[in-house]
Amino acid sequence: MKTIDNFNFENKRALIRVDFNVPMDENYNITDPNRIEAAKPTIIKVLEDGGSVILMSHLGRPKGKNVPEMSLGHICSKVSEVLGVEVTFVASSVGEEAENAASNLESGQVLLLENLRFNEEEEKGGKAFAEQLSKLGDIYVNDAFGTAHRAHASTTIVAQFFPENKCFGYLLAKEIEAIDKVMQTGEKPVTAILGGAKVSSKITIIENILDKVDHLIIGGGMTYTFIKAQGGQVGASICEDDKMNLALDILKQAKEKGVEIHIPVDVIAADDFSNTANTKIVDADKIEDGWLGLDAGPRTLENFKEVILKSKTILWNGPIGVFEMESYAKGTIAVGNFIDEATQNGAFSLVGGGDSVAAVKQFGFQDKVSYVSTGGGAMLESLEGKVLPGIAAISQ
Ligand code: AMP
Repeated sequence: MKTIDNFNFENKRALIRVDFNVPMDENYNITDPNRIEAAKPTIIKVLEDGGSVILMSHLGRPKGKNVPEMSLGHICSKVSEVLGVEVTFVASSVGEEAENAASNLESGQVLLLENLRFNEEEEKGGKAFAEQLSKLGDIYVNDAFGTAHRAHASTTIVAQFFPENKCFGYLLAKEIEAIDKVMQTGEKPVTAILGGAKVSSKITIIENILDKVDHLIIGGGMTYTFIKAQGGQVGASICEDDKMNLALDILKQAKEKGVEIHIPVDVIAADDFSNTANTKIVDADKIEDGWLGLDAGPRTLENFKEVILKSKTILWNGPIGVFEMESYAKGTIAVGNFIDEATQNGAFSLVGGGDSVAAVKQFGFQDKVSYVSTGGGAMLESLEGKVLPGIAAISQ
């Protein structure tokens, strides 16, 4: 894996694809600068080598049009503040103005380009646009995991114009290492915890990871398709009847592959999809009509605890219950605590994909697990076993 550490940037211009798609309030105040902070080590490495930096990113979904509210000019001062270096903004991403600004850069200076997605060729992966971008720098660095699953001009196509001089930034390298640790090189036992709403959205992940894990814990809404498929009674719980055969097939495959599957044995059932509904603990396969399973029950959590605490490598994707409502957040919090304990005992734990990060942040687990992925869709596709175009473009 070619990373930024394989290069010396002295007197070189680094063209760095970052993910500065940060949330802002109506006054353009950045409400969470996490993504800017995450790119800082890469940028500082180039500057300390004696190089200069051209930063390129998208912000929001301007769909090929110049939308002033989505200008990266709004975040320039925040980028300066986080880096502790003056950052110059240029109101275009390619063409004469951008090229002049880039060629005038001196060692130690940083330039921020305008929103890449103001140009419709960015998302189309336009080769001519990518070539124009390539003129701005000597070495291409990709540090944007969140867009690595897109074959966009700045994330993938541009790499063609740097056959030798392309590499991963620190953030992207860390993501790749974390995924590798779980999917390829993880110490056994390896456990995947999959929650979330539906089997259908996780099926490709399940099929891919059955070859990699020793234990698979199923939580969340997915539970009920598995329970009903085995003849259980799930009441009004979320259930995909058309996926029941698939669920049975997964159970069969797991058995053949020697993977132990752990499914809830009891659940918190509610008489309404509401935080204030009446609730009771029931067996997962005996939910009465009109009642819905919305969280894992205490016996289930004891089982999950035992598995998680003996695991050496842990992957967590998707909440265990309807964590957005306090009454059904206990399962998700408990699983977070078990992973925290396992991590303290030396396990490697990776959390990521889709909504998982929101749950982890809401309950303050981000500092307790080994790694929280910065990419929702990119992480899901990695877990599905797909080679991400942005990663392939540099590895090839
Ligand atoms: P996903 O994006 O597939 O990871 O799904 C996340 C969503 O699954 C969250 O919004 C949870 O509220 C939801 N969820 C978790 N458990 C259940 C459940 N038992 N019934 C319905 N939805 C659930």
